[in-house]
Formats: sequence, structure tokens, C-alpha cells
Amino acid sequence: MKPHAALLTNPGMGHLIPVLELDKRMVTLHGFHATVFVVANTGDHASTTLVNSPTPDNLGIVSLPPVDTDAAIPTKLVVIVRQSLPFLRTAISSMKHSPFDGQLVNGNVKAQKPLKIPCCKLLRLDDTLSLFLDQSDPSFKGFIRLGIVCSKADGILVNSWEDLEHSTFQALKDAAILGQVSKASVYPIRKLARRSGPQVLDQKLMDWLDKQPTDSVIYVSFGSGGTLSAQQITELAWGLVLSQQRFIWVVRPPADNDAHGSYFTLEQGSGTDPDFLPDEFLSRTRDVGLVVPMWAPQADILSHTSVGGFLSHCGWNSSLESLTNGVPMIAWPLCAEQRMNATMLMEEVGVAIGLKQSAREDGVVGREVIGESVRKRGGH
Ligand code: UDP
Repeated sequence: MKPHAALLTNPGMGHLIPVLELDKRMVTLHGFHATVFVVANTGDHASTTLVNSPTPDNLGIVSLPPVDTDAAIPTKLVVIVRQSLPFLRTAISSMKHSPFDGQLVNGNVKAQKPLKIPCCKLLRLDDTLSLFLDQSDPSFKGFIRLGIVCSKADGILVNSWEDLEHSTFQALKDAAILGQVSKASVYPIRKLARRSGPQVLDQKLMDWLDKQPTDSVIYVSFGSGGTLSAQQITELAWGLVLSQQRFIWVVRPPADNDAHGSYFTLEQGSGTDPDFLPDEFLSRTRDVGLVVPMWAPQADILSHTSVGGFLSHCGWNSSLESLTNGVPMIAWPLCAEQRMNATMLMEEVGVAIGLKQSAREDGVVGREVIGESVRKRGGH
């Protein structure tokens, strides 16, 4: 009988995309029967297309009922996951071969400054999730609880590969031997990033990219929901002009609070008229740049030979897609674990240069700094 795997995605495209990819591989390469439980699918165009796209036999996708909450990210994630648990328990107990006792464990771990993880490098608090700064925040406890629950698993699959995070994987193995963190075996999934090739790019993008010299285009995107303030959008626009580099920029309307982004409210396909861009920007960049509203086929763009740089919020999937395609990055983390990823890409892997540390006192990164960084990273 085939083993039956239940996979649960956290809310957001950045979680849905790699879990569906992993799932397909378990079914097609390893003979599993798999069910993916999709938490809080907001019904936006991109995630609906993904969830409804054809799947191999033996792969089921179950959307759990949406959860209504006004909380801000990352608390929102914790609330959504918690409120989805009863549905998940019912759904899983109806699967024959996956016993699930739903027990959560209480922990009283306190974050230290800087964060000390057994056998791992110290983590600068500034590089971690903002919720670690306020341990009285209920989401801090929620996160610690999740961590402890993870450590009770029989095995842990990590969306990474050994060469990329050698010392971390070694540290996890050492910690398991010592009985610290988790006794579970930790397995790198290895390269999961989609690399479907430019054939699925739409014709306009494809034609445009085909006309550009090798490594000449900088791709600018802040993930599935990252947004910038109006002032920051203006600086970025003029920064791109100053850089005199070719670019593709996935634009989203400005947000009041750029750090929180619009992970659960984006309606792909809406906002197709980017009238929030500065006057003359589009006309001045018509020959060198392409502005794509809301959503672009990122994995395919990054695999095109004309792309030579990625100005990115350093979401984990974006980072892996860039690494897999050998595209150097300019790191512009916005929130969540993105600062941690950016630091690793800059200081350990050496494939990214930073930008955000050059922000002005008001937190905005100025056009000159952007222009210079893009020029450095932008290929020819
Ligand atoms: N993505 C995309 N087109 C876009 C924006 C994002 O295809 O316009 C995909 C991207 O390729 C990646 C995922 O959405 O696979 C974003 O995940 P990531 O972990 O980088 O960031 P998050 O969205 O979770 O912040």
C-alpha cells in the first residue's frame, strides 16, 4: 500500500508554491499518495489557478475554510493556523493512514539577545522576526510553541540543500545526536525551486526578454505580497531611471505600511493601470524597462538568459529561485524572516549586496543609492 502523506501549507503564495511542488515530487518520484491542506486560500487569481491546476493521480488538494481576522502579519499567520486546526483534525482523521493526536506542547523558552540556537551561529536580533523583540506578544509564545511541536516530529524536511547551508545542517545533526533541539532526522529537500523554462512566459515578456542582451536585465519584485510606501515607490522608480539599466518591475499600489505588505488582500489582475508611478516614468523608461502590474511569472523570468540581477525582498522561495538560476541579488528585505535570509545571502553565501542599510532617517531608500546598487548588480 502506498504511504499517504498529509501536507499543510501556511497561508500565502510563498508557502503554497513550494508545498505543491514538493507534493508533486513525492507522488511522481517516490510513489506516495498525498493530500495537501491549503490554509486560508484567499481566492485570488494566482493561488486559485495553482490550486485548480491539473495534478497527478494520487494527489488531492483540500482548501480549508477561510479564517476571518484583522490581525497584522505575523500574528495573523498564527491566528489563521490556530483557527484552522479543528478543520484540519477532522480532515486528517478521515484519512485512513495518518494518525494525528493534535497535542500541542507548552513551552517556556525565552528568546535571548542575540538569539542562541544550540550548535548554530548566534543570530542578531535585528535579523530575526520582529516578534522576538517583544516576548509578551502572544504570537511570540505561539511561535515558540510551533517550534517545540516541530521538534516532536519523527522527521523534518527542510526546503534547502546541504551545500547552501552546510554548517546549519551539520549543527542540526550534531544537536540531534546530543538530544538538543530535535531528535528527528532532518532532510534537505534539495533544489525544489521551479525551473520550468521560458516557454511559459507570456508572449510580450518573452519577446521583450529575447531582445535584451545576456545578463542585462534587473528583475525587481517583492514577493507575492510585498508592497512599498508611495514615497518609496517614487524613489525606486527614479532609482531605476538613474541606474540606466534594463529592468522588469512587478509593481503594486502603495501601502500605508510597507512592512506588512498585502499578502492576503492582493487581487492579481487588478490595478493594471499603475497610475501611482511618477509622471514621465513610463515614457522615460519605455525602451529599457517593462512594468508588470501585480504578478509576473518569476521563476521563468529568472531562468531567462537576459536576466542578470534580482532586486528582491529575499523571501525564501525568491532566494532559492535566484540561486538556482545563478542570478546575483540586491537584498531589500521588508518583513518576517526576510532580514535573516538577506543577511545569509550577503554575509555567508556572498550572492547579494545590501541596500536597506542605506535607508535615510525616515526609512526610505533614496534614488541615488538605488541607482548605484542596480548599476553595480545590473549586468552590462
Ligand atoms: N511569485 C511569482 N510572481 C510574482 C511574485 C511572486 O511567481 O509576481 C512567486 C515567486 O516565484 C515565489 C513566490 O511567489 O515562488 C514568493 O515566495 P517568497 O518566499 O519569495 O516570498 P513571499 O511571497 O512568501 O514573501
